[in-house]
Formats: sequence, C-alpha cells, structure tokens
Amino acid sequence: MADYSRILLAVDLTEDSEPVSNRAARLATLSAAELHIVHVIEPLSLAYGGDVPMDLSTVQDQIHEQARSHLEEFARGLGIPLERQHLIFGRPESEIQRTAEAIEADVIVVGSHGRHGLALLLGSTANGVLHGATCDVLAVRVGQSA
Ligand code: AMP
Repeated sequence: MADYSRILLAVDLTEDSEPVSNRAARLATLSAAELHIVHVIEPLSLAYGGDVPMDLSTVQDQIHEQARSHLEEFARGLGIPLERQHLIFGRPESEIQRTAEAIEADVIVVGSHGRHGLALLLGSTANGVLHGATCDVLAVRVGQSA
C-alpha cells in the first residue's frame, strides 16, 4: 500500500486535540506526508436553531477571532504553516469532508470518544465524518472509554 501523501487533521480545539494531533503528526512523519489542519466554527444560529432574538454578528466575530488565534497557536506547535490551516464555518461533519476533498487528502484524522447509551445513539462527529467520506478515516480514541 502506498503511503499517505496528504493528511487532514480535524481538531475541536479542546484538550482532546492533543492526542489526536500527536497521532496525525507521527503519521505525517512516517509517511513524509503534508499535514493540514481544520477547525470548524459552528454558526450560533445553527447551534440555537436560527431563532435568536438578537444580533449575534459581534459575538460571532469574536468567536471567529478567538478560534483563529487558537488554531494558529495550535498549528504552530505542530509546525503546520498558515496555508495549511483551514478555519471554516458550518457543520463539522460536512465541512471536514468538504475540506478533505478540496485539498485532496487521502486520510482524515479525528478523535473518537468511547460512547455508550444516549450519546452513542446521538452519534458523533467521527461517525458523521466516516459516513460519506471519500478517503480513509483514522479515528483516534480519546477520553474515557469506560
Ligand atoms: P465529537 O465526537 O463530536 O466530540 O468529536 C470528536 C472529534 O471530531 C474531535 O476530536 C475532532 O477530531 C472532530 N471535531 C469535532 N468538532 C470539530 C470541529 N468543530 N472542528 C473540527 N473537528 C471537530
């Protein structure tokens, strides 16, 4: 099997991003692959059902700026240059897939919680990315699995 040549690391910028990115960085080194990183900002109108009785644009701008600097800092730690950092608005599952297609990634690396009960029924970003992905998906186990 050929090595991967372009890897897309998806981060939610929580503490779980650390083990997921370590795995992606290692895979990139072993495959001598180009490592890209994506973070998706969910629009507040999506998170709150689009029915909020106030102008959220200022809040949304602040969230965007905060996410940008957080992503830049995180990517710098991994040695990922600016042009391989992708900050996108939308639904994480579909935007991660879309970014992977746009950059022609051959593998997406995401974190995956050992879910059970209601959380399992509701699904996860990792599941959503896997369904419909046109390339490989590596789900790195994070958090408590019990
Ligand atoms: P979840 O199961 O929804 O908590 O998410 C698990 C993994 O999905 C995270 O470790 C990330 O790899 C990815 N992910 C979740 N939300 C985002 C987001 N907003 N932007 C990019 N990746 C995300």
